[in-house]
Amino acid sequence: MSISTPVPLTLLTRGPADLSSERGVECPGELPPAADPALAERIAAAKAALGSRVFVLGHHYQRDDVIAFADVTGDSFKLAQQAAARPEAEFIVFCGVHFMAESADILTGDHQRVILPDMAAGCSMADMATWEQVEDAWDVLADAGVADRTIPVSYMNSSAAIKAFTGRHGGTICTSSNAHVALTWAFEQGEKVLFLPDQHLGRNTAVRHLGMSLEDCVVYDPHKPNGGLTERQLQDAKMILWRGHCSVHGRFTEQNVHDVRERIPGVNVLVHPECRHEVVSAADHVGSTEHIIRTLEAAPAGSAWAIGTELNLVQRLAKQHPDKQVVFLDKTVCYCSTMNRIDMPHLAWALESLVEGQVRNVITVDAETARYAKIALDQMLALPGI
Ligand code: SF4
Repeated sequence: MSISTPVPLTLLTRGPADLSSERGVECPGELPPAADPALAERIAAAKAALGSRVFVLGHHYQRDDVIAFADVTGDSFKLAQQAAARPEAEFIVFCGVHFMAESADILTGDHQRVILPDMAAGCSMADMATWEQVEDAWDVLADAGVADRTIPVSYMNSSAAIKAFTGRHGGTICTSSNAHVALTWAFEQGEKVLFLPDQHLGRNTAVRHLGMSLEDCVVYDPHKPNGGLTERQLQDAKMILWRGHCSVHGRFTEQNVHDVRERIPGVNVLVHPECRHEVVSAADHVGSTEHIIRTLEAAPAGSAWAIGTELNLVQRLAKQHPDKQVVFLDKTVCYCSTMNRIDMPHLAWALESLVEGQVRNVITVDAETARYAKIALDQMLALPGI
């Protein structure tokens, strides 16, 4: 298996480079200076010159100055769908991270090219499951006699190679909005689920929505022999959770929830399901980024909200809802550092290069990987109620 974007690697996680995994790579440079006051004008001019040839996608966790130039904002799957719905756009400039641009490349036409303004915009969670590690894990499951009864369910936040693995083994992709539907479907197809790569979303969904106990879940650690599990543990478990997590949402603690309740009496605590199970259990509401946005829109004036998700989104929500008290759940800064690699200089550089006829930082998924990854993505779209 190979990914055809030929780039030097600077992996965000430890361990040897793996071309089949999610990765961050260096930008070749030639960027305008970050402090250039004319950047906004330059981006607007380049966008206007390109017209409908370019479509700019902005993930909710992007900085405000980048979101200002997005034609559409959303979560990773909504953005990939939006890209696919714009066949007239020759260039899709994805202000997000690498795995999102891969999904957009899989779902868009061959005549469209997907551009990531900074190739170092990876995702630490997606990096935590490489194709090679997951293939090894499948062998461990086969040796324990459970692989043929196990359905892989992979979160959107995974590399194209992991999505392809999922498609090849009869599984499905899920988002944080539909993970409960995906798991329900998977347990109709088999007896166990291998959930990749976010252990917290898998555990939270199994316990909160499917009524499982924490003992029904085991964690497969790819850095330990046989995942650190005995054959008996694999045979007894219903949910085999990959040992991955989001470095942003994984920072929130149960203590944060108790502290904010003391600071702001009557506050509603609303967190993303990528948070740890004890945080989700202590919160009042749990949901995806789209759910968080809708909940704030529907909240009554005067209500108070402590939000456990990426800080750019929380700050934007606070600005959009001046009639409500919206605070960040943690007391320390918690941006997604890789999302924030997409900034105005990189966006200006990517767009101005296109105006000059140079297509930079194209994200390409090879045909075989794309074919199997699309099977898993299509399975998600075929889930009931999606
Ligand atoms: S917020 Fe977490 S899951 Fe999302 S891109 Fe950043 S590290 Fe990855």
